[in-house]
Amino acid sequence: MERFEVIIAGGGLAGLAAAYTLAGAGVETLLIERGDYPGSKNVTGGRIYLNPVRDLFPDLWASAPLERYIVREGAAMVTPERSVTFFYRGDELKEDPPQSYSVLRARFDRWFAEEAEARGAMIIPKTKVQDLIRQNGRVAGVVAGGDELFAEVVLICDGALSPLGEKAGLRTWPSPRHFALGVKEVIALDAAVINERFHLEGREGAAHLYVGDVTRGRFGGAFLYTNLESVSLGLVLGLDTNSAGENLHVPSLLEDFKASPEIAPLVRGGQGVEYSAHVIPEGGYGGLGTLYGDGVLLAGDAAGFALNLGFTVRGMEYALASGYWAAQAVMEARRAGRYDGATLACYQRFLEESFVLKDFRAFRNNPAVLANPRLFRHYPELAAGILKDIYHVPAGPKARLFDTVRSRLSLGELFMIIKDLKGFTKL
Ligand SMILES: Cc1cc2nc3c(=O)[nH]c(=O)nc-3n(C[C@H](O)[C@H](O)[C@H](O)COP(=O)(O)OP(=O)(O)OC[C@H]3O[C@@H](n4cnc5c(N)ncnc54)[C@H](O)[C@@H]3O)c2cc1C
Repeated sequence: MERFEVIIAGGGLAGLAAAYTLAGAGVETLLIERGDYPGSKNVTGGRIYLNPVRDLFPDLWASAPLERYIVREGAAMVTPERSVTFFYRGDELKEDPPQSYSVLRARFDRWFAEEAEARGAMIIPKTKVQDLIRQNGRVAGVVAGGDELFAEVVLICDGALSPLGEKAGLRTWPSPRHFALGVKEVIALDAAVINERFHLEGREGAAHLYVGDVTRGRFGGAFLYTNLESVSLGLVLGLDTNSAGENLHVPSLLEDFKASPEIAPLVRGGQGVEYSAHVIPEGGYGGLGTLYGDGVLLAGDAAGFALNLGFTVRGMEYALASGYWAAQAVMEARRAGRYDGATLACYQRFLEESFVLKDFRAFRNNPAVLANPRLFRHYPELAAGILKDIYHVPAGPKARLFDTVRSRLSLGELFMIIKDLKGFTKL
């Protein structure tokens, strides 16, 4: 009978963070990943914010294969005929250490797996965890590749839909309301071309977000991140959009976006080198699973740890941190010599005390506020309409600025804006 102290199902950032931490503390750890190698099946936008996790993995960042550090932020509201974009550049974004980087998961996760292996973790790729083994009412191991493997604790890190989390009784069958579908293309471009087109120098990077007609006015948005020698271009759409009878095809939306005046000149001459699709948890605090049970813990997207704040999309730091804190909980249980739910409950406490659950609590109203459909069609059209009028110079006399803006803002409109602003105070 094969027996390990810890078995981790899934080698994304959550699983690898746990394996790296546990192996570093001398805990016998087996990680099982269904992809050809860790990173091969993992999708992100991707931009990673290091400040929240820098101290959890102090030895990791100096040699990590990160792409560019982000010094330029862009946000655009897009309508079919026009767009309104603002850019932010700040000296603090150039300070060392940088707060965020673009990242390609196929490279990063593969490297992270090697770091975990160097510390003693055992990683088996190309193998799917098919089932959980239950003994005496607790999770006691997994069935993988047709074999039964036993462990004191199983860490479930199998990503957004988490069938294993459901089998463990920690998640219910996911509601489409709590998820979005993302598609992404990586487009290879010369580093010098990227620097010129995005006003960057050296390893500086840019991050752009887009809302509005990119998703035909539905919940979601698009993103563009510059990597060292490529850009990551993607689009995200709420999973329940089509249940309203709309039938939007996400890959076609991405193609339209790529051909739009906002994007086409930026990626001209580029070569598509990677295409991927994945779901993202969007349920926020209300969409989180139960985090622990007898002999089992849930981390990363599997637990629902991704947070869309509108101006940032974050899941990677939560995956890394929840993997780290799950490992700490295992070590606490190891010291106690008990792996029951009551002992592993310290995982919840660790997360409550960390930025992870503090963030999820602070932004608990985000999904409800971001569900406001006016954010995705009406406001982009209003902003673009006002700017169209302001920039227009007629043959005859030009109206006063106040009258120009006022003509777009009826009393009913102002009332709705105030109502929506009240909603934003909950963010
Ligand atoms: C389009 C898109 C854009 C995003 N943009 C950003 C961003 O810019 N910034 C950010 O911070 N976050 C972003 N996110 C979210 C972020 O990517 C995720 O939160 C993060 O990848 C979660 O990591 P994870 O380890 O929990 O899950 P995953 O990376 O999904 O890893 C799960 C792993 O489990 C493996 N697996 C699944 N089932 C099994 C099984 N039965 N047996 C064995 N292995 C299994 C999978 O192959 C995979 O390797 C984005 C997500 C998407 C889809």
